[in-house]
Amino acid sequence: MSTWEEVTGGVIRCRLPGWDETIGAVAGDDGLLLVDTGPTPGAAADAGREAAALLGRPVTRLVVTHPHFDHLLGAGAFPGAEAYGPRHDAAENARDGVRQGLAPEDAAHGEELLSGVRWRIMDGTDVTLGLGGGRRAQLVDLGAAHSSHDIAVVVHGPVPVVFCGDLVEESGEPQAGPDARPERWPGALDRLLELGGPEAVYVPGHGALVDADFVRAQRDALRARFGGAGPA
Ligand SMILES: [Zn+2]
Repeated sequence: MSTWEEVTGGVIRCRLPGWDETIGAVAGDDGLLLVDTGPTPGAAADAGREAAALLGRPVTRLVVTHPHFDHLLGAGAFPGAEAYGPRHDAAENARDGVRQGLAPEDAAHGEELLSGVRWRIMDGTDVTLGLGGGRRAQLVDLGAAHSSHDIAVVVHGPVPVVFCGDLVEESGEPQAGPDARPERWPGALDRLLELGGPEAVYVPGHGALVDADFVRAQRDALRARFGGAGPA
């Protein structure tokens, strides 16, 4: 059992052992929206089962924040869910997982099951999902920044919650690999700060929950490191 923490009412998340990646869950009227799926279908299935038990609803929808194996390769655990995600190359994802230490058989299994997912690939525009009770989750399509295609999730409510994917990292330096577009990254964080506002809880892709000040400081550090337009 992973350790889950409540972010705000009806919104929980856990940090997986190993790469310390976040899996989040948001309660809707009759189902859960899972945010990211970890590196394997097994880890994703466990997390989905735990979240369903804690929030009393099954996983009916999921969103993958970006096409890195530690967030995407578990998605095949939920072939029945409505899945929102970035453009991705399943084979390349599996290869990258193995390069980063994922067991080859786990990578192959994850890759195979990805083809059974009912993907709705994001196309550059935001998608808003009703959660019931007047609440909604906004899937924010930010394009390339930390990765080739980053998507954040803003849960609008009395205390807004922003699932940042790896646009924000707390437990390590923000990672910019070969697929990153670092010059676009500070602008993506500006958009998240605008949507979440000063009171939101910001959930990093890796690490502890943070606030708007932390996100602003990370934006400034990225801008100093990589450049990028906009106010310093
Ligand atoms: Zn990443």
